[in-house]
Order: sequence, then structure tokens, then C-alpha cells
Amino acid sequence: MAETNTSSGGRPALPMQGVPQPSRDQVLGLPRVHISTHPVMAHKMTALRDKNTLPPEFYRLVKEIGALLAYEATSNLSLESVAIETPMEPMIGQRLAGGIGVTPILRAGLGLAEAFREVIPDVQVWHLGLRRDENTLQAMEYYNQLPHRIDLQVCYAVDPMLATGGSAIDAINILKRRGIPRLSYVGIIAAPYGLLKLSQTHPDIDIYIAALDERLNDRGYIMPGLGDAGDRQFGTL
Ligand code: URA
Repeated sequence: MAETNTSSGGRPALPMQGVPQPSRDQVLGLPRVHISTHPVMAHKMTALRDKNTLPPEFYRLVKEIGALLAYEATSNLSLESVAIETPMEPMIGQRLAGGIGVTPILRAGLGLAEAFREVIPDVQVWHLGLRRDENTLQAMEYYNQLPHRIDLQVCYAVDPMLATGGSAIDAINILKRRGIPRLSYVGIIAAPYGLLKLSQTHPDIDIYIAALDERLNDRGYIMPGLGDAGDRQFGTL
């Protein structure tokens, strides 16, 4: 890949070059951060990361991992009572109270959104297009399909890679402006840098991830990571 950024001294610079990063240990105790410890998740993550895993299998794994994350992230949803009749007799059952939204950050978040739909078929999916500038790593909004009327108990912003945190922070800002009472972020792999940034900027949200990696490289990619999650899902390698 060509170097595209230039430092003030005129030397080529990469966006994360020389930027101090916290260690894993420094972010492990952050409040409201949930990192999976499930052995099935660890098993699937190894297959996902493997460079020999091809896009169809990669996408299938994103959905399986996403379903496990969705199950975890929805464990504290509010319920309401509802009267039903079983074939045997009437009873009071429970159902999810209020709508549930999922906002995939395009395009890499699409597989996770699909996973949420498989766990909760009537989630509302609100697409949000945020592209990060490769030089500055700033997130830029290019597509926003959020509805005008909002009636949700919670919305999950989903994006597999929490790298610098820019897109996740912007997505949560946009959703907060729409007045949604509860927001969470769901991702697959986080770097300590992005996790700390997101948690400090939005201490009022829950963050669910499958794995916490070591660091970002100079270009802002997560190490050891899995490469580009969008390219690997959609075969644009
Ligand atoms: N986005 C990706 O797809 N991969 C990374 O490692 C970082 C951001």
C-alpha cells in the first residue's frame, strides 16, 4: 500500500505512527465492557482470523459469532407480561418490551446486523454509512437511513472492528441525537486504543466484543486482528 500522509516535517507519516497506545491490561477493567470468555467463541474466532478462511466461510462465521454476541448483548432487555393461551390453558407469558434497533455501520457491520435478525427477527435495521479517511482515520458519514419516528427500548450499533474508535463514537453520537434511551456497541475485535476512546467518550453505553487484541499498527489496523473485515466478508480482497 502506498504511503499517503505527510508529517509537518515533510516526511511520510502514517496515521497511528508514534501515537501512544494503552496496553490490553490497562483497559481490561473498564466499566460496562463485556469481553467474551466462552470457549465456543474462542474456537470460532480462530477460524475467523485465519487468513485461509475464504469469504463465504468468513461471512458464515461473522454471523455465528454475531449471534453469540447478540445473545449476550440482549441478556438485560426489558420484558412485559402478555396473556396467551397454550393448547392446554391460558397463561401469562413475557415478551420483549418496546422495539429493538440495530445499526450496522456500512459495510462491515452488515454481517453482525444479519446475526441480530436471526436472534430477534423483528429488530429494526437502520443503516448508517461511515467511511474512514485512510489518511486521517476520521469517520465521514455518507449514508444515513435512520427513521423519523423512533420507538425503541435499545439500539445496538454494530461494526466488527473497534480500531481507533472514530466510527463507533460517531455512530453513537448520531444515535444519541435521535433520543434513543439505551445504546450499546457490539463488535468482534477491539484494539485497546479504540476501546478506551469509546468507553471514555460514551461511558453510558455497554460495549460487547468477542476479543481484545494487542494494538493498532501504524495504519490503524488491529493486530493480530483479521485484516479488513469488509473485504473478507464480501470477497473484495
Ligand atoms: N477495520 C478493519 O476492517 N480491520 C482493522 O483491522 C481495522 C479496521
